[in-house]
Amino acid sequence: MESTERIRIAIDGPAGAGKSTIAKALARELCIDYIDTGAMYRAIALKLIRQGVDYKDAEALERLLAETDVDFRDDHILLDGEIVDADIRTPAVSQLASDSSTAWAIREKLVALQRAMGAKKSIVMDGRDIGTNVLKDAEYKFFLTASVAVRAGRRALEMEQKGEAVDIACVEADIKARDLQDSTRKHNPLSKAADAIEIDSSAMGIREVMDAILKHIRT
Ligand code: C5P
Repeated sequence: MESTERIRIAIDGPAGAGKSTIAKALARELCIDYIDTGAMYRAIALKLIRQGVDYKDAEALERLLAETDVDFRDDHILLDGEIVDADIRTPAVSQLASDSSTAWAIREKLVALQRAMGAKKSIVMDGRDIGTNVLKDAEYKFFLTASVAVRAGRRALEMEQKGEAVDIACVEADIKARDLQDSTRKHNPLSKAADAIEIDSSAMGIREVMDAILKHIRT
């Protein structure tokens, strides 16, 4: 990639569509930074849990956000300087991240940080509202989907590999609930940008999805 050419690639889609796997691999292949915006919402949710703050309590939330720092270093997510890669991947954090990401104060803070991260350099950013809101003028936008059954299967495999007990019906129900909440919330809901290219990865492997995306970027 030409060093003078800045490209911002937005990848949105529902839970478990493979966004982070693809975005990470794409960033590595193109030698550019990767920003996992879901991890940022998860980090805030983790802090809410740790401090016992209710995100619906506007004053308490405002205070917590004012003294919270979310950042990335070497592909690690940092909450107030502490690496929290594993702590943000629990079911409780997933649920609270989806619930609390409806709060405008949280979105306002994180969207500003995300825009600053994408202001000067080439990046791949994945999330729910990147192509529609955070990087509306991104050079490339993709909307990655897959059937609920396939997404639940992938999530279950991931959990099994971590040695966790898996109930596939629960995983599927959890994914459906998050999809519904993420796509019907008031502020910046999950939706495909009009100019995004949709890729249904239900029957595709990682390499195939990567090639489909790279075809658009390199031509
Ligand atoms: O992508 P991930 O599952 O890690 O995201 C966790 C939650 O954060 C999502 O369910 C969604 O509610 C929220 N999120 C968001 N906007 C983004 C990224 C994630 O609201 N850009």
